[in-house]
Amino acid sequence: MGTTWQVQVHAPGAATRSLRSEIEATLALVIRQMSHWEPLSDLSRFNAAMPGTPVVLPELLFDVLVRARQISAWTRGAFDATSGALVRHWGFGPDRARQRADFAAPDDDTVQRLQACGSWHQLVLDESARTALQPGGMELDLSAIAKGFAVDLVSMRLQGAGFPSHLVEIGGELRGAGLKSDAQPWWVALEPPASDAPIEDTVIALCDLAVATSGDYRRHVELDGQRWAHTIDPRSGHPVRHALTSVTVIDESCWRADAISTALMVMGADEGLAFADHHGIAARLLERQPDSWREHRSRAWRDMLS
Ligand code: AMP
Ligand code: MG
Repeated sequence: MGTTWQVQVHAPGAATRSLRSEIEATLALVIRQMSHWEPLSDLSRFNAAMPGTPVVLPELLFDVLVRARQISAWTRGAFDATSGALVRHWGFGPDRARQRADFAAPDDDTVQRLQACGSWHQLVLDESARTALQPGGMELDLSAIAKGFAVDLVSMRLQGAGFPSHLVEIGGELRGAGLKSDAQPWWVALEPPASDAPIEDTVIALCDLAVATSGDYRRHVELDGQRWAHTIDPRSGHPVRHALTSVTVIDESCWRADAISTALMVMGADEGLAFADHHGIAARLLERQPDSWREHRSRAWRDMLS
């Protein structure tokens, strides 16, 4: 997944030695199915399939696609895991083309063509055969949901193995479960988006809760003095260009927090905050302004953290 992971388990006196290999096996499974960095992953197999081919998918990948499509419908396409070709043409794909000196942004015709073959409306999933139909040219990119999904999966497996008190983190997405023996939940502090940001420290108790952050402060490129997030607005076919620098979402599921934080990042501060308030989502959106920062907290975030 191109990132690091950490797991803490609270299990005084229990043998935890085999957990590392179980966790690594779980992550390897997710990568084998969902990574676009791996040419032999099931996702890459779908992306390379001939037009009109129904591609049989393994259970977890199919499950994530069903969830991704739900989030796309719900966010009216702000989140769209079928935008892989757009992401790649804008230089944010696995080949990191934007960092090359000869990178050229796609022209309007190309953007329209890519939007036409990469849209969640065209993702045809057959639950009984467990297939996804490759319409031709569709490239899946699960980078905005798979890390959160992997966090939930590791957490579920730890639970199943008899370790109900744990904190799982993959690439900044976290889930805390259970309490420690002093009846304390897992407390986590949110990293400030920049050292000069006068944003109050936020500490969250993750008791069967997950938190995910989407933003340009960790992953962005600077070109001609402009910051570019890795986020594409599938509705326009262009990278997002507003002043939002990070969106953090708290939810019971990490996969949802992950996908929703990306969707709000696409929507921008006004639309994103209205969406979060309308749907009771706990979200914090940070905007970079020329000499200052603006913090927007949704109602559910304020209720949860006050
Ligand atoms: P995240 O850090 O979770 O917001 O995920 C960002 C990554 O998801 C990007 O690097 C792209 O690979 C992919 N991506 C970009 N825009 C979108 C979008 N609108 N919907 C879904 N995935 C996206
Ligand atoms: Mg995300």
